[in-house]
Amino acid sequence: MMFIADAMLGRLAKWMKIMGCDVAYYRRIEDRELVHLALKDNRMILTRDTLLVRRKRAKGNFFLVEGNSYKDQLKQVAKQFSLNPYENLLTRCIECNIPLTEIDREKVKELIPEYVYGNQKNFLTCPGCGRIYWPATHKDGIMKTLEEIFRT
Ligand SMILES: [Zn+2]
Repeated sequence: MMFIADAMLGRLAKWMKIMGCDVAYYRRIEDRELVHLALKDNRMILTRDTLLVRRKRAKGNFFLVEGNSYKDQLKQVAKQFSLNPYENLLTRCIECNIPLTEIDREKVKELIPEYVYGNQKNFLTCPGCGRIYWPATHKDGIMKTLEEIFRT
């Protein structure tokens, strides 16, 4: 399932991408354009905007997100769409919303700090922006946050 989030849901979109979900997000986008993209790519609209959902073409293809904190929102969306927070964790570029692919360790040697190269065996790259990803220390922080959100 693919999603598109409105401009007010940046943090929710980011965390969904961390979980590996396909979420289109634009900081500036008009309602009409957002609804158009949703229809074109068959994406579920995630929105906090009750005006947007009154648009005729958005009918039946949106989920009204409640709650002001991204944690509440994430919990709500995961429940609604039966998303497993851990299944596809860190498999997608947070910037480009593109699935990461494996890259040979030798190929990244010149691109990353030496201590990382020395400590990590597996690397992923984004075909969009070329960024290199590895199971970094921040994964612990992410896990902690997700466990906090989904504990109850
Ligand atoms: Zn990228």
